[in-house]
Amino acid sequence: MTRRWIAWVFLLASCATVAQFTRAPVAAVGRLLLPEEEEKRLGDELAAEVRQRERIVDDEAVQEWIARVQDRVAAAVPEEDRKFPFETLVVDDPETVNAFALPGGHLFVYSGLILQAENEAEVAAVLAHEVAHVALDHPAQQLAARLGADTLRAIALGERPGAIAQLASGIAAQGYVAAHSREQEAEADRYGLFYLTGAGYDPNAMVSFFRKLDRLQQSEPDLVTRFFASHPSPAERIQLLEQTIREHGLRGKATSHVGGFDEIQARLRR
Ligand SMILES: [Zn+2]
Repeated sequence: MTRRWIAWVFLLASCATVAQFTRAPVAAVGRLLLPEEEEKRLGDELAAEVRQRERIVDDEAVQEWIARVQDRVAAAVPEEDRKFPFETLVVDDPETVNAFALPGGHLFVYSGLILQAENEAEVAAVLAHEVAHVALDHPAQQLAARLGADTLRAIALGERPGAIAQLASGIAAQGYVAAHSREQEAEADRYGLFYLTGAGYDPNAMVSFFRKLDRLQQSEPDLVTRFFASHPSPAERIQLLEQTIREHGLRGKATSHVGGFDEIQARLRR
């Protein structure tokens, strides 16, 4: 009896281990800092204000393209972690390689990032990283760490008039919500890598894009200052990514699904 019980425990434990290594990691459900509706409202209002402060690319083809890449990546997020509908906007700033996420699923990608990418998969890799920040509720956690959870809740409830506009000005000027912690970055890279692979993209695209950022940091530091103001150096991230790819046997697949990458780059150069 006891022996059979032990055998069951071993069997279940090994199944759990296999499941853990073959499936995308799932964020803890209910990890949201604020009630879902409040966080959504906070994100929507912030995004509307940031939008007014950034120059948004006025080309439907570009915005539709990024939305399609975003949809592909977001579809790879386990359903229980998809708390918000995603919306990505391309900011017209060819001299800046950057992207950031707001609470409630709002992503902003600078045109400079798309221009520096080699292919669609590298852009998808950055989106996957930002999507992971949202799935893991990092933007709200960062804001709460900066302002205090009670203040953030009061802002979300509309009790602090002017606070959203003030926050949005800071975000638009800096190009990020608040500096991410090293742990949050590593977590977003890891989850993002699974989403990227789940969306059918080559996971090595995340590695190659980080290598690109590393080179840009040496050759054209101005391009990536905003990115590195809130992100740790790519060298250690590359190492962790390669380790995850190896350990989980993540396989390289396509570098393009939506297509038309060259045309999108050409449109952004106009
Ligand atoms: Zn990040």
